[in-house]
This record gives sequence, structure tokens and C-alpha cells, in this order.
Amino acid sequence: MPAVTRRQFVSRSALAVTGASVGPRLAAATQPDPAELQARPPLIISTWPFGKPANDAALAVLLRGGSGLDAVEQGIRVTESDPDNASVGLGGIPNADGVVQLDACIMSGPGHRAGSVAAVSGFRHPISIARRVMETTRHVMLVGEGAEAFAAEAGFERGPRVSPKQKAAWQRWKKEQAAQAKAAGKHPNHDTIALLVLRADGAVFGGCSTSGWGYKIPGRVGDSPILGSGLYVDDEVGAAGATGVGENVMRHCGSFLVVELMRQGLHPQEACLEAIRRMARKDPLGFNLSVNFIALDRQGRFGAAGTGTGFQYAVTCESFSRVLQSPGLTSADIGPVGGNRK
Ligand code: ASP
Repeated sequence: MPAVTRRQFVSRSALAVTGASVGPRLAAATQPDPAELQARPPLIISTWPFGKPANDAALAVLLRGGSGLDAVEQGIRVTESDPDNASVGLGGIPNADGVVQLDACIMSGPGHRAGSVAAVSGFRHPISIARRVMETTRHVMLVGEGAEAFAAEAGFERGPRVSPKQKAAWQRWKKEQAAQAKAAGKHPNHDTIALLVLRADGAVFGGCSTSGWGYKIPGRVGDSPILGSGLYVDDEVGAAGATGVGENVMRHCGSFLVVELMRQGLHPQEACLEAIRRMARKDPLGFNLSVNFIALDRQGRFGAAGTGTGFQYAVTCESFSRVLQSPGLTSADIGPVGGNRK
């Protein structure tokens, strides 16, 4: 099994700081070997630089004696509340009809419980609705109108179905870009907050929230609310979360794959890298999958990786809270890929 050596970490870091091909505004970040950072649980990691304030909120919850699920929910609510975040919450880019449809899920290692909602519009905090599905129903996932009726009945905070800023952008898109974007197969920026929590006692929790692919076909659901794709938590092993093109994560059950690789003994960093190698080897898209993973294990080890130049993720514990650069993978790392081209 190929491993990324310390030397490769160092040699890639100069390239990696140039940033990922799909992603939000990037921070100045370094790419230290996660094994060399002394991170003691409670430990929180999340996707992208916008995950840092979410991590900080989650840590504060834990230090106040809150539960692991409270930490996940309160952390992700910070990102969902940011009106300037164009890919999470109601500030997100709408679908092709001009309506923001949100996806989210939450998972508890203890009890192996999960809740999820997809294609929900008009509510500010899909992560909280997902938690309520988990805690008060016999179901795991609610979608669309049913999820909205459930949220309305439960009294969740409503919000506009699209922000004024995104509505104006959508109107421009409708006029100027639709035909062009379709022809080129392009899709506007999209990202996700996936946030993983390791409690001091080793219990693991996670959550995920996104507005998904901008200007998507109404009803499109990505990987984020799909357990095993955008998020997976196994209390015996650890947790993983994803961001990137959801269609590509889903076809490989990406987060489940990362957790299973950790179960086989891989460090979380190496599990993320190996998951991408495995996906790229068999996928017709090869390393153009545009997928990124974060992971942590019960021992308090963590890591991340992405296709291309990698991506940035936030790591928070009592002694530091930082944005780090993940290593990236290209075809140069393992030669020809995408073997199943048919
Ligand atoms: N994975 C998300 C989706 O496909 C978007 C992202 O994280 O970039 O909906």
C-alpha cells in the first residue's frame, strides 16, 4: 500500500499552499505532518477555513460540559448562520429555480445513531432538524416537503428561501450563464462543512451541512446527507467527512471507505490519501474527481487529503486552533489511473 513519506509531505507543501481548485477563500496555511502536532482530545476537525469558528464554538460547548452532539450542532450552526457563506446555510447558492435547498446529517458514535435531511428550503439550521429526526423519530432521513413539514411542526427557525445577494446572482446566472455553463459542464462554487468531534473519553461524533452544488437541478441531493458518503462515524474506529463533488463521493461511499481504512490500521491522514488513490484508480475521472476528506480516530490522530493540490481544514483542541493545508494527490503520485474507462 503506497504511503506518503515525510519527504513527500515537505516537498508538496510549497505546491499545496496555492489552494484547492474547488473551495472557498483560502487562508494562509501550513502543511505540517499531523503526527507531529500534539493534539489532545477534546479535538475537533472540520472542512475549510470557515470551519475554524465552528470548531471554536464546538470546543467551547465541550468545555462547558455540553454533549458531543451539542458540540457538533452548535459548531455547524455557526457556519449555517454566516450570510456570507455561499455554500452552507441560507446564504448559499440556490438551485436552478432560485431556491436554496439544504442537505445535512448528524451521527453519534455512541449508539451508532444518525439523522439526516435533504433538499430542505426555508429553514436556517438543517443540522438541528437532522438531529431532531435522529432523536425523535424512528427514521433516519427525511427529504423535501416532508422534511419541511416536520421542521415547521417542530417550530424550527425559518429563513428566506434565498438571500437577496444570491437571488441577484441567480438572476444574472439565468440570463448570462445558463447555456454556457451547460455546454461546458461547469458548476459554480460549492462546499460543505463536515465537522468531527472526539470527546476526551474517546467517543466520536460528526455532522455535515451544505447548500450543495450551485444552480443544481431542483431535487438534486449530494453526498453530504448520505451516511457513509459525506459523513461516517464509527465509535470503535473514528470518523470521516467529505467535501467536493458529491456525485463522486457518493459513487464510492467515500467517508465509509476512509473509516474502514482506519479500521485496518491506517493513520487518518494515510486513510484519506489511500481512499482517494483507490477511488481514482477505478474511476473514469481518475484524479479529476474533485473530492476531499477529513478524518480522526479514537486515539486523537487526525488528517485530511484532497485531489489536486489538496484543500484546507481546521483543527482545534485546547492548546491550538489552526487552519492546515492537506496534502493533494495527482496522477503523478501513482501513475495511470481511471482503469475502468468504459
Ligand atoms: N459535497 C457537496 C455536494 O456535492 C458540495 C461540496 O462539499 O463541495 O453537495
